[in-house]
Amino acid sequence: MAEYTPMIQQYLSIKAKYEDAFLFFRLGDFYELFFDDALKASQELEITLTSRDGGKGNRIPMCGVPHHSSQNYIVQLIEKGFKVAVCEQVEDPKVAKGVVKRDVVQVITPGTVMEGALLDEKANNFIASVTPFEDGYGVATSDLSTGQNAVKFLQEDWKAVCLELQSISAKEIIVPSNIAEDELKLLKDVYQFTVSFEDDNEVPEHLHSITSKLQSEELQHTANQLIAYLVRTQKRSLDHLQKFQYVETTAYMKIDPNSKRNLELVETLRQKQKKGSLLWLLDKTVTAMGGRMLKQWIEHPLLDRKAIEERLSIVETFMKQFFNREQIREQLTEVYDLERLAGKVAYGNVNARDLIQLKRSLQKIPSLKDALLDMDYPSLVERSENMDPCMELAELLECAIHEEAPLSIKEGNIIKNGYHDGLDEYRDASVNGKAWIASLEQSEREKTGIKSLKIRYNRVFGYYIEVTKSNLHLIDEERYERKQTLANAERFITPELKEKEDIILEAEEKSIELEYDLFINIREEVKTFIPQLQVLAKQISEIDVLQSFAVVSEDGQYCKPRIVEDGTIHIEAGRHPVVEQMMDRQDYVSNNVHMDHEREVLLITGPNMAGKSTYMRQVALSSVLLQVGCFVPAESATLPIFDQIFTRIGAADDLAGGQSTFMVEMMETQYALTHATDRSLLLLDEIGRGTSTYDGMSLAQSIIEYIHENIGAKTLFSTHYHELTVLEDHLERLQNIHVKAIEENGKVVFLHRVENGKADRSYGIHVAELAQLPAELIKRANELLTDFESSKNAKNNADKPVKEDEGQLSFFEPYSESKRKIRKSSEQLHPALEKLKGLELLAMTPLEAMNTLYELQMSIKKERQEGSKWVKSNS
Ligand code: ADP
Repeated sequence: MAEYTPMIQQYLSIKAKYEDAFLFFRLGDFYELFFDDALKASQELEITLTSRDGGKGNRIPMCGVPHHSSQNYIVQLIEKGFKVAVCEQVEDPKVAKGVVKRDVVQVITPGTVMEGALLDEKANNFIASVTPFEDGYGVATSDLSTGQNAVKFLQEDWKAVCLELQSISAKEIIVPSNIAEDELKLLKDVYQFTVSFEDDNEVPEHLHSITSKLQSEELQHTANQLIAYLVRTQKRSLDHLQKFQYVETTAYMKIDPNSKRNLELVETLRQKQKKGSLLWLLDKTVTAMGGRMLKQWIEHPLLDRKAIEERLSIVETFMKQFFNREQIREQLTEVYDLERLAGKVAYGNVNARDLIQLKRSLQKIPSLKDALLDMDYPSLVERSENMDPCMELAELLECAIHEEAPLSIKEGNIIKNGYHDGLDEYRDASVNGKAWIASLEQSEREKTGIKSLKIRYNRVFGYYIEVTKSNLHLIDEERYERKQTLANAERFITPELKEKEDIILEAEEKSIELEYDLFINIREEVKTFIPQLQVLAKQISEIDVLQSFAVVSEDGQYCKPRIVEDGTIHIEAGRHPVVEQMMDRQDYVSNNVHMDHEREVLLITGPNMAGKSTYMRQVALSSVLLQVGCFVPAESATLPIFDQIFTRIGAADDLAGGQSTFMVEMMETQYALTHATDRSLLLLDEIGRGTSTYDGMSLAQSIIEYIHENIGAKTLFSTHYHELTVLEDHLERLQNIHVKAIEENGKVVFLHRVENGKADRSYGIHVAELAQLPAELIKRANELLTDFESSKNAKNNADKPVKEDEGQLSFFEPYSESKRKIRKSSEQLHPALEKLKGLELLAMTPLEAMNTLYELQMSIKKERQEGSKWVKSNS
């Protein structure tokens, strides 16, 4: 260390405290990075790597970014999941002795960004802290940009916690440094979170109240850990942070992260886009705050009947009173993001334009209140009365801030005339001075007789009198002092002009300084309104979401659902809201759904692509819609309140996602079976298809039996195992339904119509034909099917469930001699192919599969070199 220059020593001692962040070290107009930071940042940001003398001839790597454009570079690093510690000079270089003192003023991390491109206006930016306890994990979340905080306790395993964090798109996870190694590994390597450590859980006194009301020490500990991290990294008071809300997990319908993904609630399964999700469909919100609240509501459907019914009746009122609703939408369009604005105020980075928008938003509140009152509906009247439009604040901003204020708060033109006497005086001095100059110009023209004489101002020379060369002989040389010579003019100053210039410039300088001070005072004043603004933001967001539900329900001709306690589902002419929206609405075939305590399990058969999944999902989505308080896509709907929804998809369906194996399918099913209750909704889509036929069929059957006998959850089970349809005779509360398809001119036609009873056949070969498999292949498949069906009839065992002792159905009759011709020279398979054929792929790990493939390839290559008979005869 002693070998380095004092400045590099200072750098190193600061860097030692921020090892996991890029240290942006302020040197003049640049932020410089040194050593490893420089090597890495130059690559990540594609900027030039240089070096500088670090002391005693040691050259150290260095790269830098200009201070004025540093935001762009910081954003790039944060987007990639890195952290940036911003280190500034913290004393005036003029008074510094030795190296100017520097310190980190803020650590910017993915979970703590406050503005700019990294924030999606319609989504929260969550940072979470997790602490392990004996019987579960405390999970606290905060959105620093809005000040919202929540905490819950999860009695789940670590993987479930990770999935939960993933499902809220947490940008950064705070954990204690003694976290178990395997837990850290899962968090970082498998789920790819940005992880930060915090062992402190002391919070400054002024923030005590935001966690002190939490019921348990565990919850407080987790929340404090998060606050301690935020305070340590943000290095400011964080006055906008709101009280932690305890999220009672049993207060909301539970939808585990897998089911959320499968139901495409907030993004689509494959493309991970909002478009095509339920959120996309429902989002007719007009404010950013409403957009964020909508997402939170969809992720937390309610269980409380009264609360659901209240939302539904407001939606109904909004639907009935179109004009009032439009009036509300119009007012809302001009309401700015009050939550994020409150955050910016607390952070001290709000500018005059933000405050103008705040004023305009507040000025809309009285008409919004009136429109709500006009609806004459008790709960809306109450909401209207509870809304505080913060008139004092609106008035203050109206008097103080200039409509056309610039972005910068340091260049004046922010404060209106008449707001502050001192400022008015300075302005008068400047304005009078300017008027005096205009009259001086006039009198000088008269005195000299030079009509083109001008008095102008520039930053370098101040005020000057300009005379063209041809008129120079007319000036009074004694009074005019030469300042600058141009090609065809000369510029002069006179003593009286100089004197006035001093007065004007001093007044302007002072007025800019005063404006800045006044602005800071106003900002402090706005700070005192943060709690009211946050309450108002919440009230406005709720109105926005509910009007959005009304718009969607009206456009889609949804109906107000009726809630029942006996578990009955009765939907007439129901639709899948998103599938319907994505296609021409007339083409969507609506379907009825009926389930009750005598019809608990519906076994759905029908060809692939017939609409089985769509039908099942429309039941789940209708339930979610009801429980968030929206109407449902049907002519009429009666639904219970479900405590949980589970959606499981057979592995084969999800292979394209690249992550599903039969094991995952089974683990997910296990989770559903152990957590579901008789008040849950279970969708099992082709479960069991990820393994061999008999395995799969046996598992599917026993899963159905288990649910029927032990859980009693309302269950929709789709399957292509027609054999399972005989379960209807054995299980009292199970019924077969099928999605109808017919054959027309030898081609399958999907009717998408759901009817009672089992499907007559599977039409798999027709679907293969639609997918344009070779005609010869289709022909052969039809022959095999005919053979198979006749042998099955002969055995007379068609309509029995699978039992272990009779799993001998022969699906594939051997090829006849004539067919063998088609296969040309394949009487005997190549040994490599034989081996490939015999592999139990689902029992292998990907690595074992790779190794085996490698061995097979090597054996073929070897043969090629040796000129084996296989290579010669079967190229
Ligand atoms: P399955 O699960 O039987 O293989 P899906 O439910 O995935 O079939 O449906 C396949 C496609 O059929 C859907 O993507 C949709 O385009 C269409 N479809 C499904 N149900 C309907 C319906 N009720 N009306 C119109 N089209 C439908």
